Amino acid sequence: MARIGLVAHDDKKDDLCRWAEAHRDRLGLHELWGTGTTGSRVKAATGLDVHLLKSGPLGGDQQLGAMICEGRLDVLIFFIDPLSAQPHDVDVKALTRLATLYDVPLANNKSTADAVLAAVPNPAEG
Ligand code: PGA
Repeated sequence: MARIGLVAHDDKKDDLCRWAEAHRDRLGLHELWGTGTTGSRVKAATGLDVHLLKSGPLGGDQQLGAMICEGRLDVLIFFIDPLSAQPHDVDVKALTRLATLYDVPLANNKSTADAVLAAVPNPAEG
């Protein structure tokens, strides 16, 4: 079972919810962690069990970063909005930096998320 982090900036939350609905069965095989608002939205959209962290701007991105450096997160799906400035841009950078540093698969858009999820071993297949 992989531990998967889910984050989306506000204008990307609908996209992430649609992506999660499309991959509901496969995501349900794994342990899901989300920043507060994203995680709640995905939970409501899919019925999946998502462990909720703080909202991103209130420290949720940093909590995911801590999970990465402690070896407690295997995959990060982070739908970034490339067209809006984020008040917590330093946290966003810190999180993507740690995912890069620790070689955690990081998907910033839907096509990459499709590819990353397809590469995650399916626990049902041993
Ligand atoms: P949120 O945080 O899911 O609590 O909105 C996401 C983010 O980092 O912008």
